[in-house]
Amino acid sequence: MHKDYIINHLGENREQYFNAVSPPIIQSSNFKFDDIESFRKAISDEQHEHIYTRGNNPTVAILRQKLAALEETEDALVFSSGSAAIAAAIMSHAKNGDHIVCVNNPYSWTINLLKNYLAQYGVTHTFVDGKDLQEIEKAIQDNTTILYLESPNTATFELQDLEACAALAQKKGIVSMIDNSYSSPLFQNPATFGIDVVIHSVTKYINGHSDVVMGAVCASKKIISKIFINEYMTVGAIVSPHDAALVLRGLRTLKARMRYIHDNAQEVIHFLDHHPLVEKIIYPFHKDFPQLELAHKQMAGAGGLFSILLKAEKKEQVYQFVKHVQHFLFAVSWGGHESLILPFISVFDIPGHPEPNVPWNLIRFYVGMEDPDFLIEGLEAGFQAMN
Ligand SMILES: *Cc1c(COP(=O)(O)O)cnc(C)c1O
Repeated sequence: MHKDYIINHLGENREQYFNAVSPPIIQSSNFKFDDIESFRKAISDEQHEHIYTRGNNPTVAILRQKLAALEETEDALVFSSGSAAIAAAIMSHAKNGDHIVCVNNPYSWTINLLKNYLAQYGVTHTFVDGKDLQEIEKAIQDNTTILYLESPNTATFELQDLEACAALAQKKGIVSMIDNSYSSPLFQNPATFGIDVVIHSVTKYINGHSDVVMGAVCASKKIISKIFINEYMTVGAIVSPHDAALVLRGLRTLKARMRYIHDNAQEVIHFLDHHPLVEKIIYPFHKDFPQLELAHKQMAGAGGLFSILLKAEKKEQVYQFVKHVQHFLFAVSWGGHESLILPFISVFDIPGHPEPNVPWNLIRFYVGMEDPDFLIEGLEAGFQAMN
């Protein structure tokens, strides 16, 4: 199915709502029935019928269909955050006594889920170097149920070979899952390499306007159905019809945004690459990236998120740089219209906060929709202040 068809038409039964181009927001928690028979029929097919919005809602359903199709999976569920989506997917395949193999340095709340939360319920885990297939294979035990990937991650961008990981999981009879937020469904479709479950923080590129928090799980009908009747309906971390409509609006421009952001990032990176105060660029499509070939094999683009190592002798220089950089907002998250800067030095030496597993001169940038010239001017102000 063409991605343009998915984004512009799939799931939109316009004749049902006055041929409106934009779908209505069905802001209703509840749906009525004509008689006992029709209610009985609905209850017997709860996963597809409209009974109550903590199950199905017509506006949310359009979004689910589009996300599933974009990831080339049979079905999808959307959740009130990316973290809720990750938790639902992992919990659906982890019961007491089970073991999970997860790549090093995934999203911070994924670490928390495995280390602190699921550990309480007797679910164990092993973190592995995702670059090393043998290490992954060695970590898989008899009670392992999930191979959890994040390729690339969003700080240091290590990749996993999706085709090889999917084959390994199939051979071992375990479920493979990936956090695909970095690439969006336009730059990488893990299901086409055989990965079973594809997860997104919709908050990032898919919505793209920094005004909604949402997550998605895309997988087979069988897996989605299992998650629907358990984690989805029970925990109830659903999205409102209004947020679904906002994300549908964001989706309309996903293609244009991704292309623009990717091109923008190349120009900003080119400037940084030639700057004497930059020690290193860390970006999957950079010529020095150790897994560049793999990145080109499985990703169609790399978007706007990358890191640099600043050439600084003293921590104070990083502080000065960050203080004087213009046009980049100092913030977490990414994937919106606005460019961002996140210096990892800001999470070192905080009492009670785990020390990050990265160098203190690592700075993450997200290049959004501004002109590259404007952004480069903002960066120059930071470099000038370092001397
Ligand atoms: C932001 C993010 C998440 C969490 O998503 P939320 O929508 O913030 O809950 C998960 N994974 C990655 C890679 C992210 O960047």
